[in-house]
Amino acid sequence: MTSSEQHFDYVIVGGGATGCVIASRLSENPSIKVLLLEAGDMDIDPAIKETAVTKLFDLWKPELNWGLETEPEPYCNNVRKPLIQGRVLGGGSTLNGRIFIRGHRLDFDNWAHLGNEGWSYKDVLPYFKKMEDFEGGPSEFRGVGGPVRISKLKDPSPTALAWIEGTKELGFGGERDYDYNAEKQDGTSALTQSNTTIDGKRASTALAYIHPALGRPNLTIRTNAEVTKIIIEGDKAVGVEYATNTGRVGSTLKGTPTYAKAFADAEIILSAGPYQSPKILMLSGIGDEDHLKSHGISTLFNLPGVGANLQDHIVGRMAFKFKPSTDLSKQNIPSIISETSFLTYSRPGLEGSASPDVQVFVGGFMFPDVSPEPGFTIVPANVQAQGVGSVKLRSSNPFDNPLVLHNYFKCDRDLETLVSAFKLAKDVVNTKAFDDLRGDELIPGPEGKTDKDLKEYLRNRCFTNWHPACSNKMGYDSMSVVDPRLKVHGLRGLRVADASIMPFIVNCNLHATCIMIGEKAADMILQDN
Ligand SMILES: Cc1cc2nc3c(=O)[nH]c(=O)nc-3n(C[C@H](O)[C@H](O)[C@H](O)COP(=O)(O)OP(=O)(O)OC[C@H]3O[C@@H](n4cnc5c(N)ncnc54)[C@H](O)[C@@H]3O)c2cc1C
Repeated sequence: MTSSEQHFDYVIVGGGATGCVIASRLSENPSIKVLLLEAGDMDIDPAIKETAVTKLFDLWKPELNWGLETEPEPYCNNVRKPLIQGRVLGGGSTLNGRIFIRGHRLDFDNWAHLGNEGWSYKDVLPYFKKMEDFEGGPSEFRGVGGPVRISKLKDPSPTALAWIEGTKELGFGGERDYDYNAEKQDGTSALTQSNTTIDGKRASTALAYIHPALGRPNLTIRTNAEVTKIIIEGDKAVGVEYATNTGRVGSTLKGTPTYAKAFADAEIILSAGPYQSPKILMLSGIGDEDHLKSHGISTLFNLPGVGANLQDHIVGRMAFKFKPSTDLSKQNIPSIISETSFLTYSRPGLEGSASPDVQVFVGGFMFPDVSPEPGFTIVPANVQAQGVGSVKLRSSNPFDNPLVLHNYFKCDRDLETLVSAFKLAKDVVNTKAFDDLRGDELIPGPEGKTDKDLKEYLRNRCFTNWHPACSNKMGYDSMSVVDPRLKVHGLRGLRVADASIMPFIVNCNLHATCIMIGEKAADMILQDN
């Protein structure tokens, strides 16, 4: 490759929640040449501008998504579970639920405890503050003036307000304006904070970090550019091969790919997300030797942890019709998929020593596939699931989606935890606070009468909370893939920075943590070069 325009200081693979942050921060220095390669399109689809919950589902279409699903899940009656993953500038940040919540402080302290220097809560707090422009103003815990506007919910539905009152009736803390991203996150009920601009737009990392940088001559952004391989010379990653004109719609290619290469004089940063980053590493000869051999790929670096240790949050849905006497004129459709934040524990004795393992999402709307009638939805989640899955190659064809197995409920305790979360949610819905709203329970309904029924319902109908992580974990044990500077073990010139590097999944929605990883990665890259 001779063309000088194909040489950069840094090549970033994947313009998602994390990659957009890194591209923007590195290119703040005009003398640093940065290339950002994104498999999807620019974030121009009109559906991205819509923020109503009912419009959110329009975003999860094959044109903006990878069309992934799990293999038959062995502990879920062999049901395949759909997996939405953004394929567009901003990645998950462009089509997620906009719920903004930081991981629990104990989760980061645990990362550091495992030997990951620089990742304790005290270490990562400055990056959480740096990223945000919090409408509630600055404090020891909160930042202002950063790229991502964090707004408080302005239009809570009666369901959201009833939830806050109902949890208080049961002895939990919280107030509608309680700041759960500050001193204490657990045991409290509050209205959701979201990454939403003052004028109501989605503050994705594409909008917050890349749009303001579009005019920088040192930042090149190539969309519809799908990286197929990292080019490695000796022990150094030097460039990437990528394909344009794939015409990808979901998992199907409708075009004839044209190949190109781009070279990085300093480093390549892999930010393709927790399913695609391991796939790209494996296609490049970095992974478990036996697995690569089974697909005819020569192993350059035997790292058995690539694609292993996959973790996620598991959810199930409850839906209730409104009571026939409910005044429907007062039931506004919320602007966010979960209007409240509520994190707690599935059993006594965990408080103080571990982060909450239960999160409950609450919305004053009905999912269209459940019923055309108005009502409300409660989604309990197990946010510390212990079952671990994997990402593997389906074939050596770079355009095949990877084989994903989450092993949901491999660990019995995970199912027990979700059952406890359902029972707790039902207790809240049965408080006085819900007396004017609560109508018939549509789901699980008769399918959830006993614990045994509920378990079967969850095996069949549980699904991802769209929080895959940990598939290239950071650490020093034999299954870790990157070190605490996010450098791939054994190689020079290659880092991974996205949700895949978490050693253990944080206990709530991942977006804020991914932005933090991007901010910290950019700082470390600049310090190290
Ligand atoms: C439907 C949905 C709802 C969610 N809701 C919330 C929420 O409300 N709150 C919250 O905190 N979190 C939420 N999340 C989770 C959060 O958005 C993700 O955890 C986060 O986006 C992960 O960031 P990432 O950088 O690891 O990967 P991504 O954001 O997925 O970015 C990866 C990017 O890499 C690109 N890419 C992949 N392969 C290639 C390749 N070969 N070549 C070039 N580019 C490639 C992808 O197209 C994508 O743009 C949600 C996620 C989804 C999918």
